[in-house]
Amino acid sequence: MDFHLDSLLNLPNVTVLSCQQQEGLIFLSLDFLNEGILCPNWQTYTDNLHQTRPILVRDLSIVGQGVYLKVPRRQFICPHCGKYPTEPLEWIEPRRNYTKRYEEYIYEKVKELTVEQVSKIEQLSPEQVQNIFSRQARKKKETGQCQKE
Ligand SMILES: [Zn+2]
Repeated sequence: MDFHLDSLLNLPNVTVLSCQQQEGLIFLSLDFLNEGILCPNWQTYTDNLHQTRPILVRDLSIVGQGVYLKVPRRQFICPHCGKYPTEPLEWIEPRRNYTKRYEEYIYEKVKELTVEQVSKIEQLSPEQVQNIFSRQARKKKETGQCQKE
């Protein structure tokens, strides 16, 4: 839709179809520019779409307003292995409803503030904040504090 919005969002192969503001939140409907994917099994290309299921993914706030991305989660059929791979996205982990950069941001915020404070600022439940924090902390322990992914 809007070139500036796309580059502001800075996610690969993603374009913003529409933007809605609702109760202090921003909803961005996304579309993908790539027709197909590489099947994770054998890295063979498929653009044979099986189904699309939209999910809501929380992202970093823009000008003080919380942002939700409406992401069309796409599942393909791989003619090579016969499986139904879901599109791998480097900016969101499988089965998560937050972008990686948002989870990283929440982790850093909790280190500065408290879970309760971050929950209020971000309009998330304390459980959600705690869940993100614990998960990030565990990941950092596994990969080593100083290393980047
Ligand atoms: Zn395959």
